[in-house]
Amino acid sequence: MDSLQMLRKIALEFTNNLEQLPLKLHVGTEEIRSRLSCYDFSAPRDLTQLVEEVSDILTKWTEHANHPRYFGLFLPSTDISGVAADGLAALFNPQVGSWDFSPAANEIERLTLKTIAEMMGHPLGAAHFTSGGSEANHTAVNAALTHQFPKLAQEGVRGLKGQPVLYISEEGHHSFEKIAHITGIGRRAIRQIPATDSLQLDLDALSQAVETDFRAGRLPFMVVGTAGTTNAGVIDPFDALADFCKSRNLWLHADGAWGAAAVFSPKLRPHFAGLARVDSITLDPHKWLSVPMGAGIFLSPHTQSVRKTFDVHTPYIPESGGDDRVYPYRATMQWSRRFIGLKLFMLMAHKGLDGLAGRIQHQTDLGNLLRTRLGEANSGWRILNQTPLPLVCFTRDDLTEVELKAVADQLADQQTAWISTTKLRNKTPCLRACVTNWRTTQRDIQILVEGLNREAVAVKFSAIPN
Ligand SMILES: *Cc1c(COP(=O)(O)O)cnc(C)c1O
Repeated sequence: MDSLQMLRKIALEFTNNLEQLPLKLHVGTEEIRSRLSCYDFSAPRDLTQLVEEVSDILTKWTEHANHPRYFGLFLPSTDISGVAADGLAALFNPQVGSWDFSPAANEIERLTLKTIAEMMGHPLGAAHFTSGGSEANHTAVNAALTHQFPKLAQEGVRGLKGQPVLYISEEGHHSFEKIAHITGIGRRAIRQIPATDSLQLDLDALSQAVETDFRAGRLPFMVVGTAGTTNAGVIDPFDALADFCKSRNLWLHADGAWGAAAVFSPKLRPHFAGLARVDSITLDPHKWLSVPMGAGIFLSPHTQSVRKTFDVHTPYIPESGGDDRVYPYRATMQWSRRFIGLKLFMLMAHKGLDGLAGRIQHQTDLGNLLRTRLGEANSGWRILNQTPLPLVCFTRDDLTEVELKAVADQLADQQTAWISTTKLRNKTPCLRACVTNWRTTQRDIQILVEGLNREAVAVKFSAIPN
C-alpha cells in the first residue's frame, strides 16, 4: 500500500467512527513527547508507515470536533469536499499571491468571493481569503486607518494629532486587543462599550463615549459590530450602527466570523440585512461552513483604501496587469499564499447553495430544539441569550459556577457531548452549546439534554474540590 492509499483508508475509517473519537483528553506533555522521542530524524522512514503513525497520534491526542456531539467553539466538522480541496491545493500548490503565477486559482477565488459578497449585499470590491478571522479583522483595522488618516501611510501613528480610538462591545472578539497592539495604535485605543441586557452593543453608551473622545481631542475612527458574538450568537444592531457611523464619519466593521455564514440561509438572511451598509466584513468559512482551517474572508467596498494599505512594487515579480487582474500580494497582508479559497469553492459547487442553505437551516432547527427542550417549564434550566442563531447559553439557579463547569467536564469525559462554559458580559457564568456541526442530529440533541439533566443532579452529590 502506498501513502495515498493509506491516507484513503484512514479517511474512511475516521469518518465511519466519529462517535468513538475522544471528546476530552487528560494527557500531559510528557506522554506525547515520549511517544515522539523515536523521531530523531536520523534515518529515513517509510512514508506509508509514517502516515499511519501520525494518524494514530492525532486520533489519540486531539479533542475531536468532527464528533457529532461537539457543541463547542465553532471548530468545523469538516466536509470531505474540503479535504479533497486541501489535497489539490497542496498537490498543485499554486502561489495565489500573483495572478500571473496562478490564473486558475485566482479566478476560482474571485468567483467564490463574488458570490459571497453578493449574498451580503455588496459588490465584489476588495475581497480576499485570509488565514482566518483574526487576519480579516486585522485587515479591517489597517484599511480603516488608511482610509481615515491619509498621512498615516507615510508617517505612521506617530504623525497623528491624537490617540485613534476604536469602539467594540464588551461581547466583541478579543482579537482586536492583539490587533491594536500590532497595528501600533496601542491597546488603549480600544474602547469597550457595555452591552445591553440583551447582550447587544449599547448605542447610547457608544454615542456618549464617541462624543467624550472627540471633545477630548482624541480621534475616533472605527466601530466594530459583531454579527454573531462568540459567546452568545448575538447580532449587534447594524442598521442603527450604520446611521450613527455615517453621522460621525466612522468606519463600521462587521465581525461575522462565525455568524455571518447564516446569509446562506434565506430564512436567516434578513437578520443580516444591515451588513449591506457596513465598510468591511469578516467571515470565516472554517467555522460554520465546515471547511478545514484556516480559511477566512475579508470583504470591503472600499477597494482603493484596501489596495493602498498593502500596495508595493517589486522588480522581481512578473506582472502583466490590465484585464481586471488582481495581484493579491499587493492587495492583502500575505505574500506567498496557499490556495485557501478552493475548499469553499468545492463545498459550494459540491453541495450547491440550496444544499448549504438546508444544512444551515437544519442546524438552526436543532438549536431551536435544544432551546425549547431546555426552556420547558420545570426543566430547571434557564436560557440567558436571545438569537436567531443556533447557540444556547443556559444555567440553573441551583448550580454554582464550579458546578456548571463540572457538568460540562463530566459530559465530555463520558463521551456524551462537548459543551463549553463562559461568562456573559464578563460576569454571568453559564453553559454554552452551539450547533454548528452539520453531522449533529435530533438524536444528538436528545443525548445532550438527557446528559445535562442527569449531570445537573449528579453534580450535587459529588464533592467538587475547589
Ligand atoms: C473566531 C472568531 C474570531 C477569530 O477568528 P480566527 O479565525 O479564529 O482567527 C473573530 N471574531 C469572532 C466573532 C469569532 O467568533
